[in-house]
This record gives sequence, structure tokens and C-alpha cells, in this order.
Amino acid sequence: THFHPEHAYGAQVFAGAATYLVNRAQAEDLTVKGAGYLEMFRGLGEPVARQLAGVELPRPDVVYGQAHRLDLGGRVVHLQATGRAHSRGDQVVTVPDVGVMFTGDLVEARQFAIFPWFPPHDIDVSGTRWLAVVRRLAAEAPRVVVPGHGEVGGPRLLADVRDYLQLLWDETRMRRAGAASEQTHVEEIEALMVQRHPDWSGREWIAKGVACLCAEHTG
Ligand SMILES: [Zn+2]
Repeated sequence: THFHPEHAYGAQVFAGAATYLVNRAQAEDLTVKGAGYLEMFRGLGEPVARQLAGVELPRPDVVYGQAHRLDLGGRVVHLQATGRAHSRGDQVVTVPDVGVMFTGDLVEARQFAIFPWFPPHDIDVSGTRWLAVVRRLAAEAPRVVVPGHGEVGGPRLLADVRDYLQLLWDETRMRRAGAASEQTHVEEIEALMVQRHPDWSGREWIAKGVACLCAEHTG
């Protein structure tokens, strides 16, 4: 679904036996940022570094533009590039005959949206575009949603992310007009979001989301 290590790396084990199929922006992400992310994830500690031992950056066999229809033999799968959101090269994979949608990190279950906002190294994530993408996907109303992290669920998962991103955007925009510091804004928004979703993990991503949206609002 996108180039991040826990989603794409390790695909080299299928070399020669399968086709690694990605969209154009995803291929560019791999080329431009693949090695840097491998290095960064290896720095996250020994357990992660061990998981990444022997990883070679996967090289796409087939690169498509906007959409690709893949016939697996008796089952057709659609790949669709969503445009920049959680990363530059996000795509969703749908299985129309059973109403299943694989979202990658555009959707997580019981976890705050992951904003890989690491200025100046990586500022590709866009909260406003992400919100637009999730609105569109929610309107497709898939029966089953397979998130990037967490348990498989239904269309409620899409609605949850849509509502969270909308609220994050509204709260950030509203506070930008006030006199308080950005740090104060972040703390207030974090408190609000945790209160609303006390059982969600990944609280560290709230502040990154606010920082990303602040930059988009100013820029
Ligand atoms: Zn990701």
C-alpha cells in the first residue's frame, strides 16, 4: 500500500516467484526515501533492527499510473493510487466481489493516524489531502476494511479516521487565530483527542498531526 518499511520491506523474498506491483509515486518514494527509512527504522532499537536484517529494498517489477486491474484467476483485485496523503504514494487495494478494502496506513484501528512528519527530512504527509481521500473512501462504503495496523473491521474504521482528521483540522485551524503558543495548542488538542479516544494508542502522533496541519495552514 505504500513504501514504509513495515508494509513494503521484505518483498525481496518473492523475487522471481511473484510480481512486485506499485504505483508511480510509490516507486519514487522507494527510490528517494527507501534507504533513509531503512536506516531510520534500524535506529529504532534492537528488536526492529533484527526484523530488518538482510532486507534489500524491493525493486518494482511493474509500475502503474493511477489505477491497475489485476486478475488473480477467478478473482479480480483493483489497485488505486489515492494521491499524496499519509505518504506520496499511497494506494488502496480493493476486492470488489467481496467488498474488501485494504487501506494501508490511511486507516488504523484503535490508533491515532500516523503522521510521518519529520521536517526537514520528510514533509510529504498531508493532513488536508488525507482527509479528502478518506472522505472519498468512506463514501465507497466497503463491507470489510483491512487497516494498516490493528484489527480488521467495517466501514466504521473509515468514518473514525475521517472524523478524527476533520476534528484535528478544525481544532488546529481555530487555535491558529488565537494568541497562545503552538506548544499550548498542541497540549490542548492532545488532551481533547485523548479524552475522545481514551483506548487509542499512538498518542505521540497527535502532536505531529497538529504540526503538519499548522504548516499546511500557513503554507
Ligand atoms: Zn506508513
